[in-house]
Amino acid sequence: MRRTKIIATLGPATDEPGVLEKLIAAGVDVFRLNYSHQTHNHHEKRMKKIRRLSLEYKHAVAVIADLQGPKIRIENFKSGKIQLKEGGNFKINTKLSSDSGDESQVGISYKQLANDLKLNDRLLIDDGKIVLSVLSIDNYIIDCEVITGGELTNSKGINLQGGGLSADALTNKDIEDMKHAAKIEVDFVAISFPRDAKDIKKARKMMKDCNCNAQIIAKIERADALNHIEEIIKESDVIMIARGDLGVEVGDAALPPIQKSLIKKARDMDRAVITATQMMESMIENKIPTRAEVFDVANAVIDGTDAVMLSGETSIGHYPDEAVKSMSRICEEAEKQRSVRVSDHRINQRFETISEAIAMSSMYSANHIGAKAICSLTETGGTCLWMSRISSGIPIYAFTRHTATRRRVALYRGVYPMKFDITHTDPLEANKQMIDQLIEQNVVVERDFVIITKGDLRGKRGATNNMKIIQVGQALEHTL
Ligand code: PGA
Ligand code: MN
Repeated sequence: MRRTKIIATLGPATDEPGVLEKLIAAGVDVFRLNYSHQTHNHHEKRMKKIRRLSLEYKHAVAVIADLQGPKIRIENFKSGKIQLKEGGNFKINTKLSSDSGDESQVGISYKQLANDLKLNDRLLIDDGKIVLSVLSIDNYIIDCEVITGGELTNSKGINLQGGGLSADALTNKDIEDMKHAAKIEVDFVAISFPRDAKDIKKARKMMKDCNCNAQIIAKIERADALNHIEEIIKESDVIMIARGDLGVEVGDAALPPIQKSLIKKARDMDRAVITATQMMESMIENKIPTRAEVFDVANAVIDGTDAVMLSGETSIGHYPDEAVKSMSRICEEAEKQRSVRVSDHRINQRFETISEAIAMSSMYSANHIGAKAICSLTETGGTCLWMSRISSGIPIYAFTRHTATRRRVALYRGVYPMKFDITHTDPLEANKQMIDQLIEQNVVVERDFVIITKGDLRGKRGATNNMKIIQVGQALEHTL
C-alpha cells in the first residue's frame, strides 16, 4: 500500500469525459485547482464533480485552491511573438500599453519593476529560456542586453535571478479567488510567492475574514523565502517545494540540496511537505517516464516528502492516468527501502503536548513490537500528522467522524482516513469496532499487534491521552 500521496493538477486534459474517474481509480489523493487559469464557474464545476466521485469511489480526496500570486509577466506583442537575437538590445517599458510590444520593447504587469533592479541584474523570462542583462535603468524604461535569445511570445513569466522583486504576495485577484475557494469549501489554499511569515499571517487573517477553514500551503518559490524559511514553515500548515519558479531564481543546480533541507525542516517542525513541478514532465507527451524522472520521484520519497505533485502531466498531458499510475508504482517501490522506514525524528527534543507524547510513544512501540497498524481516533488529524513525521512502514488509520479531517489527512504520508463516529458509538464498543474494520479490510489477521490511541474526552480536539496495544483476537468487548 502506497504511503506517499499523489497530487494531480486539473486542466483541459482532466475535463475530458471519464478522465477524472480514471485518476481517482489510479489513486490520486489530492486535486489542485490552479486559479492562474480558468473561471470561478469552471473551478466550481470541477469541485462538484470531485466531491461526487469521491463519494462514489469511497475515496477521500482533498482539494487545493492554488492562488496565482504576484507572478510577474511581460505583456503582449502586436504580432503575438518576436525573435530576440543574442547580443542585441531589448527594453522593458513599464509605461507601454499592454498590446504594443515589438522587436525592441515590451510592457509589463508590474509597474514598480525599475525600483527593484540594479545594473547587470539578470532577468529570466519564460522559466529562464530567455535571459536579459540590465544595461541601464531610467525611471520607467529598463534597457537590457539579450544574453540568451530565441522566440518570445505574449505574457510570459519573468523572474529576477537571485530574487529580490518586491511585489506583494497577495494580489486583489488572489483575494477574490480566496473568497471563491472558501465558498466551494476547498481543503487547502496554496499561497504563491510568499516572501516571509508576514505574507502567511496576512493570508491567514484574510481567510479568517472570509470564513475559510482550509489549511495554508506556503509555496516556496522565491529565493527570498529561503532567508525566512523557519518562520514561514511555522506560520503555515504545509509547504510546497515549488521547483519551477524557485529553480529559476536560485539556479537549477541549487535545487536538490534545497529540496532535501526543506523536507527535513518541515518534518522536524511537524509540518507536511509537497514536492512539485516537472516530476514526470516528459509524460506530457510520452506513455513512459524517463529514467531521470523515475529517480526524481523515488528520491523525493526517500527524502521524506508527504506528497509528490503532477502539474502539466495531468492538466494538459496526453496520458494523465498513466502518469499517476507510474508515479504510484515508483513511490511504492521506493518506500520499501530500509532507510525510508527508520527515524530519528525529534530524538533530542521535548514534546510540547500530551497528544504529541502519545503519538511519539505509539510510533516507538509500534516500530519495536512490529505492529501491523495504528488506529488513531482523532478529531483534527493532528495526532496522525505527528505520527506520520516518524518514518515507518506501518499504516496509520485516522478514525474520524469529520469529513474535512478525512480529506485533510489524505495528504499525510502513511495516513489513511476511516469513517468512524465516536460520538454515536458506545465507548465500550469502540476498540472492537475499529479492529473489526481493519479485519474487514484485510489489514490485520488474528495475533497481529495493533496500537490504538484516543482521548478520555470523546469528541474533543487535542485530547488524545492514551495508547493501547492490542493483539487481534483478544476479547475486546466492553474494554475502554
Ligand atoms: P506553479 O507553482 O505551477 O503555480 O507555478 C509551482 C512551481 O513554481 O514549481
Ligand atoms: Mn510557481
